[in-house]
Amino acid sequence: MTRLYQSAKRVLVTGGAGFLGSHLIDKLIGMGNEVLCVDNLFTGAKKNIEHLASHPKFEFIRHDITFPLYVEVDEIYNLACPASPIHYQHDPVQTTKTSVHGAINMLGLAKRLNCRIFQASTSEVYGDPVVHPQVEEYWGNVNPIGPRSCYDEGKRCAETLFFDYHRQVGLDIRVARIFNTYGPRMHPADGRVISNFIVQALNQMPITIYGDGEQTRSFCYVDDLIKGFIDFMDDDVKYPGPLNLGNDSEISIRGIAEAIIELTGSKSVIVSEELPADDPRQRRPDLAKAREMLGWRPSVQLREGLKKTIEYFTRL
Ligand code: NAD
Ligand code: UDP
Ligand code: UDP
Repeated sequence: MTRLYQSAKRVLVTGGAGFLGSHLIDKLIGMGNEVLCVDNLFTGAKKNIEHLASHPKFEFIRHDITFPLYVEVDEIYNLACPASPIHYQHDPVQTTKTSVHGAINMLGLAKRLNCRIFQASTSEVYGDPVVHPQVEEYWGNVNPIGPRSCYDEGKRCAETLFFDYHRQVGLDIRVARIFNTYGPRMHPADGRVISNFIVQALNQMPITIYGDGEQTRSFCYVDDLIKGFIDFMDDDVKYPGPLNLGNDSEISIRGIAEAIIELTGSKSVIVSEELPADDPRQRRPDLAKAREMLGWRPSVQLREGLKKTIEYFTRL
């Protein structure tokens, strides 16, 4: 439905009360857009968006996207889905429903409105990768029946749905494969490595490394990632994805522990705990396509991003 008086864009952000969603909303509102945030508050929190509560361009609806949603918007970012292993494994059936039924509903909505839709996919679609660094052409190495499968396979199925709506009804889609991202507003108890290590270091508690700590990840600061989302949704980008977004400097989990101990000046000791099942051994995005398609690259160095994140957790 077109509006009688068209001014700013009306943007729907699902999962907008979460870590990434709330940063995205800040950016969209800062650019002059109207934002409708839809979230069931399963892992998100009202405090992430409370600074916007009385903003004239912000609206919040508490809603679960596994149920249909009838609203009028110009653009959709679909971020709703718990993202940390302990959260998405808490109710794995609901996790798959959120990815699959949620995608169907948001795609149905985008089809009715004939509007562009962004999907927050994940590096987890590559599973425990045997191709390194991960290029978008790689099909992945995912266990379909393990404890991480509700998330990995749910996100893979969502990608399938996005590309089928794109081919079948010509929907304008943007599928981003997001690699590990960190920053302020991460949930302090979501079990992800950076939040865990910072909370442990600040409280002088043991730093829990799972396995030998030699597994690697590549960590992107949230501001870089959000800029990538916005650039990807630009009118001039004609590419549906999939597109890797993240940071390509790879570090071992032990390396992260040591950096956080140093930056917090903590007296915490490192202890070893059992490695969770299907924990990927290594992960690093190949960002050539993001550079080519968007001219985008991350700019925040790990230590700089960690300092800002430590500051946030110190204030908490
Ligand atoms: P988050 O848990 O902070 O945010 C997810 C939000 O979705 C929460 O506010 C939660 O309440 C909401 N939600 C969950 N199920 C819902 C449902 N059925 N209906 C409505 N809302 C629902 O996680 P995040 O880190 O902000 O991740 C956002 C998105 O980005 C997720 O789709 C995640 O899979 C993806 N992603 C994140 C990372 C990362 O490193 N943070 C990496 C890869 C992919
Ligand atoms: N849907 C929605 N909002 C809309 C339009 C559709 O939530 O504005 C949901 C609805 O539940 C529907 C799903 O999206 O089942 C898929 O829509 P689509 O039009 O692709 O298929 P159909 O309506 O034929 O099932
Ligand atoms: N990890 C760890 N200690 C923790 C939390 C996580 O050693 O307290 C490890 C985890 O086993 C994995 C890596 O850190 O190898 C990243 O974990 P996270 O849950 O942040 O992200 P994901 O595994 O989804 O990439």
